[in-house]
Amino acid sequence: MTNIISKSLFIRGCQCHKSLYLHKFHDELRDTLSEAQEAIFSTGTSVGEVARDLYPGGTNIRELTAGDTAKALTETANHMASGARVIYEAAFSCDNLLAYVDILVRDGESWKIFEVKASTSVSDTYLLDCAFQYHLLTLCGIQVSDVSVVHLNNKYIRQGALELKELFKTVSVLEEVKTLRSVVIENLEQQFAILNADSIPAIDIGLQCHSPYPCDFMGHCWKHVPEYSVFEVAGLSANKKMALYSSGILEIKDIPEGYKLNKNQKIQVDGVKHNRSHFDKAMVKEFLNTLKYPIYFMDFETMMPAIPLFDKSTPYQQIPFQYSLHYLPHRGAELQHMEFLAEAIEGKDPREAFIKVAGGYPKTRNGARL
Ligand code: SF4
Repeated sequence: MTNIISKSLFIRGCQCHKSLYLHKFHDELRDTLSEAQEAIFSTGTSVGEVARDLYPGGTNIRELTAGDTAKALTETANHMASGARVIYEAAFSCDNLLAYVDILVRDGESWKIFEVKASTSVSDTYLLDCAFQYHLLTLCGIQVSDVSVVHLNNKYIRQGALELKELFKTVSVLEEVKTLRSVVIENLEQQFAILNADSIPAIDIGLQCHSPYPCDFMGHCWKHVPEYSVFEVAGLSANKKMALYSSGILEIKDIPEGYKLNKNQKIQVDGVKHNRSHFDKAMVKEFLNTLKYPIYFMDFETMMPAIPLFDKSTPYQQIPFQYSLHYLPHRGAELQHMEFLAEAIEGKDPREAFIKVAGGYPKTRNGARL
């Protein structure tokens, strides 16, 4: 069977060869996608859709061909040959490589590649991603005059309709991807060799499991890691945790006496070693003594839309939309409760209603409405 390496598979392979192999041949070992991960993917998709309007009027090849790769390749070639100026999700394949280019824009006899990212900066992984596309299009005989990463501008403050040229930053990375082309070629050689092997690469867990993306095979690879492992020591750096693991120390109880820990880590490690809980009565008392009635207990929820939905908000700004407030007017009083949930009305900013003074809400110590 011929193995095809797509852009996303290439990036996976750069993170970990074992992940590359498992993704291709052992889907049954993959973790179930969490809701949070699904939300990240859908954020990327919606940002990509909005960014297309920076270069309007193109045809979306992926949509047009409904996931049929052969058709997508033919349609891309047809659109390029028939004078299209802008193409979204343009498909290219050569030498068993495959990529869809987010936005492809004609530049005379050449073409410009725009890779859209839902982040607020350019990372090394994005450079590799762009370098893969540059390498593939060059193999296909396409002249590429520029390659850019289009990412969100976290300084943009929405006021009225979205201003796409302000919302997005376009950063040319042509020189970087030209330099990285040799790295891509070298990585591809290794990745094809991995895919042609007949066994899972013997790679132990490591820092690569979390970076640049959380791996979706951790349930499989990390199953030997016990509940109270060194990876659970709060605030210990990832490098130190991995160094302990690599030296054969897997469980908290085996961390040697004298290992450098801060005060809280020492409490945690000693607690596990001696099977005892820690309760600092004096500190709790000291804290409770600082509280004065009336006392409010507030829990709230926020959302962080990548594309700002409301005026005076920026990409990924936290927008509160719900709270639950318990209120104790004086010692011994009955606990009261009030709550707020914003109306889900498109374009309606929930922040004002969230903080608005309303009749019936409890007063603060100074007598002002909450
Ligand atoms: S969990 Fe870690 S070791 Fe296993 S495949 Fe993923 S990155 Fe590789």
